[in-house]
Amino acid sequence: MSRHRVAVLAGDGIGPEVVEASLPVLDEAAGLEGVRLEWVHFPWGCDHWQETGRMMPADGLDLLRPFDAIFLGAVGRPDVPDHVSVRGLILPIRQAFHQYVNLRPMELLSGLPPVLAGRGGAPFPPESFRMVCVRENSEGEYVGAGGRFDQGSPDERAEQLSVFTRRGIERVARYAFHLADRRSRRLLASATKSNAWQHAMVLWDEVVEEVAQDFPRVTWRPYHVDALAARMVSHPESLDVILASNLFGDILSDLGAALTGSLGLAPGANLNPERSYPSMFEPIHGSAPDIAGRGIANPIGTLWAGALMLEHLGAPGAAARVEGAIRAVVAEGATLTPELGGRAGTVEVAEAVRLRLGDAGGAPPPS
Ligand code: NAD
Ligand code: MN
Repeated sequence: MSRHRVAVLAGDGIGPEVVEASLPVLDEAAGLEGVRLEWVHFPWGCDHWQETGRMMPADGLDLLRPFDAIFLGAVGRPDVPDHVSVRGLILPIRQAFHQYVNLRPMELLSGLPPVLAGRGGAPFPPESFRMVCVRENSEGEYVGAGGRFDQGSPDERAEQLSVFTRRGIERVARYAFHLADRRSRRLLASATKSNAWQHAMVLWDEVVEEVAQDFPRVTWRPYHVDALAARMVSHPESLDVILASNLFGDILSDLGAALTGSLGLAPGANLNPERSYPSMFEPIHGSAPDIAGRGIANPIGTLWAGALMLEHLGAPGAAARVEGAIRAVVAEGATLTPELGGRAGTVEVAEAVRLRLGDAGGAPPPS
């Protein structure tokens, strides 16, 4: 039996609710494939910040480093500034562990009422909405460089620098093209804004163009990010892999998740493809203070993130079981959380997924 040690950062708000509901499901899926997951919980987040002034201890990164993976719920609380919570925990992990790929599948699951109406009133076919965002996750707009000057004066000024490097763009572009090359449609859209952002995004376009030369089977083109956002709504069937910078990918993937029905469905993987450091898996949503504590948060994005983690850990059979069970429960439609029009709670949905894990090893995920 192979064994993997996973650091659990449940975090704040609905984070602990969706994580606690998901762990037994992932345990069982792994067990069915002869894999054992060993969870080690770290109580970091906004409570920790209130007690110690830090979201995680000073040696937090050293403590996480030896793990095979990190499983994260969400962080953030209304009484703690968001730049403190996100900058204090998530961004340092992504950056220190060179998790430069943020992989965010965006798929319309069969059985959900579509948010987008089909053209001419025809039902919207789920298979026409199947994208994955490859978001640059280590530099760009989120490097945190800049400052506030002359605070409080009428001349107050804020500078927020973005930093794009040839190496940083190249490695994430290579990952995205490689991924597109292995998918059936082999399409790639690169999100740019080189008409207005004449330094960073022109470099982005040049490097993407160079990397594209190595992938002649992939059909690709750049889109200005605003037009790409519109295209996700008007012509989702024309999109497959979306390559985007840190900020653009953040925005486009929330849009993609909302278009599939709920932010609560969408998973994310923060990958260090070289495996020199642990990768981190999380739902893309935040701590959802508006529904926290009520047991109604959708656990599917977290479960799906768990499937991405199982795949990364070398247990594709267990990953396929979780994904197949998610698809089965959603298609059945009897056990859904309220934001999808259902009446089930977090634990009930997770339990329904657990009960379907045994189904024929799970359906293989479509590409
Ligand atoms: P959010 O994702 O927490 O919530 C946006 C909306 O989606 C809310 O109406 C919420 O109820 C709904 N929602 C989110 N997850 C859901 C789920 N699993 N099931 C059902 N509904 C769900 O975004 P926000 O409100 O902008 O941010 C809240 C806090 O989370 C802030 O402190 C923010 O900084 C933080 N945040 C953290 C992360 C992270 O931990 N990775 C990501 C985004 C935001
Ligand atoms: Mn986001």
